[in-house]
Amino acid sequence: MNRIDEIKSNLDNVGAKIAAAAIKAHRSPDEITLIVVTKTFPLSDLEILYSLGVREFGENRDQEASSKVGQLPSDINWHFQGQIQSNKLKSITNWANYIHSVDQLKYAQIISEQSRVQAKPIFIQVSLDHPPESRGGVDPAKLVQLASEITKLPGISLHGLMAVAPTDTAPGTAFANLKKIHTDFLASFPTAKSLSSGMSGDYEMAISYGATHLRIGSSILGNRQPIA
Ligand SMILES: *Cc1c(COP(=O)(O)O)cnc(C)c1O
Repeated sequence: MNRIDEIKSNLDNVGAKIAAAAIKAHRSPDEITLIVVTKTFPLSDLEILYSLGVREFGENRDQEASSKVGQLPSDINWHFQGQIQSNKLKSITNWANYIHSVDQLKYAQIISEQSRVQAKPIFIQVSLDHPPESRGGVDPAKLVQLASEITKLPGISLHGLMAVAPTDTAPGTAFANLKKIHTDFLASFPTAKSLSSGMSGDYEMAISYGATHLRIGSSILGNRQPIA
């Protein structure tokens, strides 16, 4: 199979599974945004995805993403979901339409300073790990405090919460916990409606626990080469 057919077939497959999982959860597939995570894949794959109608792309590395952004049409929404480094964040804020992985006030402050003209939508990343914060994300016990500081900043709109399922817990248990965290959170931050969770291995489960944004790479593009 050539690359176009391969990607098209995978994309159709994932799309059908998303629709089925949404219906099973009594949700509308329209309220779920598929972000195709294109990190490490070549520009040619992104061009294929674009030709197939994909407009939501996810990247993890500033340099790689900046170069791709400059070579693709401007009607794409770019999502950054990688680990934040302060010295890259100014640049990331310039190309990313959405930043999913904010877990410290100092990062939100940098984004705020860079986004005075148009507010930047962000997600706060919540840690589902034991112990919390071992792989990024804020400890759920500190979430409301962090969110109330972030929402005081100009230039930022708090879109929702983001999480990555832990490797040592069944994703269903983790996503059930995340759903509860999000429901409680909405009581204080009613506009933070989005929930970015679900990757290639667990997106159907994530949908059943309220995910609104799925970040899917390998199920659509194949296995990534390990990053050196
Ligand atoms: C790479 C990555 C994804 C996509 O992972 P796949 O397993 O390839 O679907 C999603 N979220 C984050 C934070 C990632 O770093």
